[in-house]
Amino acid sequence: MGETGPRYIVLLGPPGVGKGTQAERLTERLSLPHVASGDLFRQNLKAETALGLQAKTYMDRGALVPDDITIAMVVDRLAQPDCAAGALLDGFPRTVAQAQALEDALAQQGHALETVLYIDAPADVLLARLGGRWTCRQCGAVYHLLFSPPRVAGRCDECGGELYQRADDTPETHRRRIAVYQEQTAPLVDWYKTRDLLTEIDGTLDIDGMTAALVATVEA
Ligand code: ADP
Ligand code: ADP
Ligand code: ZN
Repeated sequence: MGETGPRYIVLLGPPGVGKGTQAERLTERLSLPHVASGDLFRQNLKAETALGLQAKTYMDRGALVPDDITIAMVVDRLAQPDCAAGALLDGFPRTVAQAQALEDALAQQGHALETVLYIDAPADVLLARLGGRWTCRQCGAVYHLLFSPPRVAGRCDECGGELYQRADDTPETHRRRIAVYQEQTAPLVDWYKTRDLLTEIDGTLDIDGMTAALVATVEA
């Protein structure tokens, strides 16, 4: 990998650990686009595309959208011009099949992943974070009722947009998504460890502490 080649970095970790929050901060520092599979599905849903409607049935119950649909969507996103310099991937890959597909798609272009930033925290921490999550309807910025409140209640600091609780942010879906993560996504930790790509970050840190730990890793 040449120093000027595109950089592909993955944020891996359970739902609610803070991947999206950190991605928003890192994307500016690294000048890389934030490619979040969940955001891509939600954009499709908002635009009522066939893909969005197909994904909704899975998202609503906290299940993973099938690999073929998800892989095609993300590979297509990575082929867009703004990803020429690489991407910060958030929420993808979530299965071994997705990780393999990503590795293959990058290899076909002569590229490879630079690193996988693995953020983990216990389930009680995840549930407390997910339970207070509010998202901007307009720009997707993420807030927390207690840990990261907006300056004006119900309004986005960035764009003034309305904050809402995601349809899949319910206590039952949270538990289901954490279980799905343990079953289908956690195996990626060893998969990437074997490839010597994994860097572990303490997910119990506060938002600024986690950013500092991540920046120290990716800018090193
Ligand atoms: P969170 O930030 O809470 O982890 P996401 O926004 O990443 O949630 O994902 C929301 C939902 O979108 C998931 O529960 C799943 O249904 C679907 N989804 C997102 N990314 C993937 C993926 N890589 N593979 C399969 N399904 C996905
Ligand atoms: P993920 O993308 O991993 O699902 P999010 O970035 O959406 O996680 O964060 C989940 C919730 O937790 C949000 O409400 C966010 O404001 C809050 N949050 C994120 N990181 C932290 C942190 N380090 N400490 C406390 N709350 C956090
Ligand atoms: Zn906003």
